[in-house]
Amino acid sequence: MKDCLFCNIIKGDIPSAKIFEDEDVYAFSDIRPQAKVHILVVSKAHVADMAHSGALTDKQLSACLRACVRVARECGVEESGYRVVNNCGEDARQTVGHIHFHVLGGERLSERMG
Ligand code: 5GP
Ligand code: ZN
Repeated sequence: MKDCLFCNIIKGDIPSAKIFEDEDVYAFSDIRPQAKVHILVVSKAHVADMAHSGALTDKQLSACLRACVRVARECGVEESGYRVVNNCGEDARQTVGHIHFHVLGGERLSERMG
C-alpha cells in the first residue's frame, strides 16, 4: 500500500536494519527499542491489524509466528526468554496500521503485559 510506512520499509524505500526476510515476512530492528532486543516481524502482505488477519492465508499468518521464533534464536534470546506482542487497534496503542509482531527480550521484562 502506497502510503504505508511498513510497506515502504519492506520495499526498501525507507531504510531499516534487516534481521531476516523470506517470501512472507520482513523482520527489522525497532527504531525506538523498548528492550535490549526489540525486533519487528512484519507480514509482507498489507493488512491493517490482527482483526483483519482473515485476509491473510494460513501460510502468511503462520510465517509471522515462525519468523518470531527464528528471530529470537538469531538474536540470542531463545534460551533466556522473550515476549511476542501484537498491538491491535486503539486501546492497544497500535501506531502503525500494518500487521506486525514485536519480539522483545535480552533483559528481564516488566511483570505487566501492558
Ligand atoms: P505499534 O505501536 O504499532 O505496535 O508498533 C509500531 C512500532 O514501529 C513502534 O515500536 C515504533 O517504534 C516502530 N517504528 C515506527 N516508525 C519506525 C521506523 O521508521 N523504523 C523502524 N525501524 N521502526 C519504526
Ligand atoms: Zn502496509
